[in-house]
Amino acid sequence: MYKKISLRDTEIEELIELENQRQEDYVELIASENYVSEDVLKAAGSCLTNKYGEGYPGKRYYGGCEYVDGIETIAQERAKKLFDVKYANVQPYSGSVANAAIFLSLLKPNDVVLGLDLSCGGHLSHGYKISFSGIFYNATTYFLDQNGHLDYDEIEKRALEVKPKLIICGYSNYSQIIDFERFSQIAKKVNAYLLADISHISGPIIAKLHPSPSPYADVIMTTTHKTLRGTRGAIIMTNNEELAKKIDRAVFPGYQGGPLFHQIAAKAVSFYEALQPEFIEYQKQLLVNSKAFCQTFINKGAKVISGLTQNHLFSIDVKTTYGLTGKQCEDILHTLNITINKNSIPFDTEKPTTTSGIRLGTAAMTSRGFKEDEFIIIANLIDKALREPENLILHNVIRKEIVKLTHMFPIVRKYIEK
Ligand SMILES: *Cc1c(COP(=O)(O)O)cnc(C)c1O
Repeated sequence: MYKKISLRDTEIEELIELENQRQEDYVELIASENYVSEDVLKAAGSCLTNKYGEGYPGKRYYGGCEYVDGIETIAQERAKKLFDVKYANVQPYSGSVANAAIFLSLLKPNDVVLGLDLSCGGHLSHGYKISFSGIFYNATTYFLDQNGHLDYDEIEKRALEVKPKLIICGYSNYSQIIDFERFSQIAKKVNAYLLADISHISGPIIAKLHPSPSPYADVIMTTTHKTLRGTRGAIIMTNNEELAKKIDRAVFPGYQGGPLFHQIAAKAVSFYEALQPEFIEYQKQLLVNSKAFCQTFINKGAKVISGLTQNHLFSIDVKTTYGLTGKQCEDILHTLNITINKNSIPFDTEKPTTTSGIRLGTAAMTSRGFKEDEFIIIANLIDKALREPENLILHNVIRKEIVKLTHMFPIVRKYIEK
C-alpha cells in the first residue's frame, strides 16, 4: 500500500485513504491503469506545483525558471531517447488535450480526419461526435473486419474516398500489432498526415515488443500513465522540425497556459525508470501474462474480440459468451473485488453506457507481481462468476479468494522503493 497521507483536512484525508485501501484490495484489470512508483508520487507531490513558467526552457514568460527549465529539458531528452525521436513536447496535461493540440497544429477547422470507429476500439478524441475532434473537424471513420482485425486495403479504400488531411492509428482497445509502415504508405498516397497515438502500447514499444512508429508517423502521441507506468499526462513527439515548432505553439499558447511542472518532473522520473533494464522485463512479463490470461478465456469458450491478444489488453463479447451486458459484468465483478470496465465491441448494438463487451488488461497487476499462474486463476474465477451471475454463495467464495490474492501481492513492490 502507498504511504498514508495525513492532512489537516480530515474529510479529504479519509477519502484518499479509502481509495488507497481500495487500490490495495482490488484486482485492477482496467487496461489503462497502472501503479506508479513512490518516486513518481513524490515528484508529483512536490513544491513544483507552485511554479509558473509559460513557454519552453530558455524562453519563459516568468522569472525564476532556472530549475524547472532543467527538469523539463531532462524530461524531453529522456522521452527522445525512449522513443527514438528528434523532438518531444512534455507539457500536455492529458492524452485528449495532446490530441487537440496536434489537431490544432496540423489542421484547419472542418478538415477531414480519418480514425478508427469508437465501437471498434478508437478513442473519443479521434473524431467522436461529442468530442472536440468531432465538433470542430469533419470526422470520418474506418472499421475492423469480421475477425476484429485492421483491414489495410479497406482503410486505403476509405482514405481514397474521404481524402483526409489526417489519418489516426493507435487505439484504446485493439489487441493486435499495428503496421505503422502500411499506414504511412496509405497516408502518403492521399497526402495526409499520419498520427500514431500509442497511448496504450508505449510500454511494449519502448521494450521493442511492438514495432515503433518513429520511422513512419508524422506525429506520435502517448499518454504517460498506461503501460508506461508514469504519472497522468501525455507527450507529443515528431522527427520533423517544422512540425515540432507548430506542435509547441499549439500546446502553448494554443491549448494550455502554464505547464504542470510537478507532473513534468514526475514524467521525467517515470522515463528514468523506463530506461532501466527492469522495465524491459516488466514489459515482457506483461505480454506473457496477457496471452495466458486471454488464452484461458478462449479455452473456456469465451468469445474474445480479435482472437489471442498480442499486447497487454483484450476484450470479451460478454453478451454472446455469458448472456450479460458489459455494465452487468462490471457491476458483478466489482462485488468480487475485481475492477474492469465495460467496453463497446465492434458493431455493438448496446449504448456506450451499457455495451456488450468488457475490456481486460494486465499492466497494473503485472506491476504488483502477478505471473501467468495468477492470471489463469483470475480468468477461471471471472468465468465461473459470470456463468452463474446470480449464485451469491459462489460469488462470496470467489471474493474471498480474490482478496487473498491481493494480500499476497501488495502494491508496494521492489521497483517502487529507492
Ligand atoms: C487513454 C487514451 C487517450 C486519452 O487520454 P486521457 O489522458 O484520458 O485524455 C488518447 N488516446 C488513446 C488511444 C488512449 O487510449
